Amino acid sequence: MNQEPGNSGGPAIERFCIRTVMAPLSQPHKTASGTIEAAPLVLLDIETDAGVTGSTYVFVYTPMALKPVASLLGDLESLLVGSAVEPSVVSEMLQAKFRLLGNQGLTGIAVAAVDMALWDALARIANLPLARLLGAAPKPLAVYDSLGQMSPDSTAAEVSTSLRRGFQAFKVKAGHPNPVTDVEVVRAIRKEAGDQAWVAADFNQAFTATESVSRMRLLDHEGLAWIEEPVRAEDHAGHANVRAAIATPVQTGENWWGIPDMAKSTAAGASDFVMPDAMKIGGVTGWLKAASLAEANDLPVSSHLFSEVSAHLLAATPGAHMLEWLDVAGAVNQTPLTVSKGTVTAADTPGSGLTWDEKAVAKYQA
Ligand SMILES: [Mg+2]
Repeated sequence: MNQEPGNSGGPAIERFCIRTVMAPLSQPHKTASGTIEAAPLVLLDIETDAGVTGSTYVFVYTPMALKPVASLLGDLESLLVGSAVEPSVVSEMLQAKFRLLGNQGLTGIAVAAVDMALWDALARIANLPLARLLGAAPKPLAVYDSLGQMSPDSTAAEVSTSLRRGFQAFKVKAGHPNPVTDVEVVRAIRKEAGDQAWVAADFNQAFTATESVSRMRLLDHEGLAWIEEPVRAEDHAGHANVRAAIATPVQTGENWWGIPDMAKSTAAGASDFVMPDAMKIGGVTGWLKAASLAEANDLPVSSHLFSEVSAHLLAATPGAHMLEWLDVAGAVNQTPLTVSKGTVTAADTPGSGLTWDEKAVAKYQA
């Protein structure tokens, strides 16, 4: 059933404000495909006739996607002005509109942006933090610092900075040309942070199942919390094969576009844990469905990027596991989360944790 969001008598959408920024990261993030110095973000504010504005951002990975996503959101504005602030109904309607084009990629990003901004508006209208609107309360969540690719020599300095900032858990991008280097980096982290430190590694889809298993012959003895995306994200059988062949738990989920992808992955037994991305899974509405599917499959849930809204979502998620910290919006957010003794807690204030620093938004406008 495709319910059209109509006028239910509740608050309605008045207008969108869409802006694009290149938000500098506090430290460059090294990946196999280059170093990220700034995050391409589309900021969406949805003004409502309740006098309350809902805010969110989406991370579009490449500056080339800023204009298309902003343009798509502009078209959605004309479609949605006058509609009720009912994110779940709006999401269902938009997904139906894009069914033939597909709900992945830019369309998925735009629909998630609308969803997250509307949930932020709902929380502010109710004068509640999002976590409380979802029936929970902000609480301390275990957090890890999502570090980039490091050489064994640079690891001590990076980890010591991270420790000073309050982190006690670390994830590193593995998959160096020489697999022995991966082991050296993991050991260098523990040398700095302590033998018992929580460490995970991310292969970022770089290998075939056979290559991953072969590399894990070395890493499997390092007591990693998880190995992430050992094979291509959509290769659910490959994930399951790696998982069956190694002792280290497998983690995946950041590249699932909506619940259908997650359902295929869980049905294949692809992973020991799940880490949906608040944007790609379909915003807050998509996350809530993912949390139910994870609970039904007894899978602990971590987050991917989007630390602000994820701190609210994980607080309301059964089996909440780890919050990923890779602060892509810190440069434009006046109310960033703070890390303390290995945890973060969402602020107990209305909304989902975003208040634009307008000076910074103007400065970094793209
Ligand atoms: Mg990853």
